Amino acid sequence: MSSYVPALDTWLLQRELPQGVNGFITRDGDNTTYIVIDKDLSETGKLNTLTHEFVHLIRNDLDSDENVEDIEYRARVIRGIPCHSI
Ligand SMILES: [Zn+2]
Repeated sequence: MSSYVPALDTWLLQRELPQGVNGFITRDGDNTTYIVIDKDLSETGKLNTLTHEFVHLIRNDLDSDENVEDIEYRARVIRGIPCHSI
């Protein structure tokens, strides 16, 4: 399944991912952004993963110079805050 979200200028893709990888966000050479989530997750798992990847998108983490551990820590902390508070 693939769908384009114009408001976010981002493609959402569901694919089979390696065990332990729920999803990720990436950008290709054409500057197109993709959020990829594991197609086999539960609906709740998919929603949680999308929320996590949206945090990366909103915070522009793909362009961050911070190390991955700090970026992931912030994304997990922010996810605990209701979306309207971000
Ligand atoms: Zn992450």
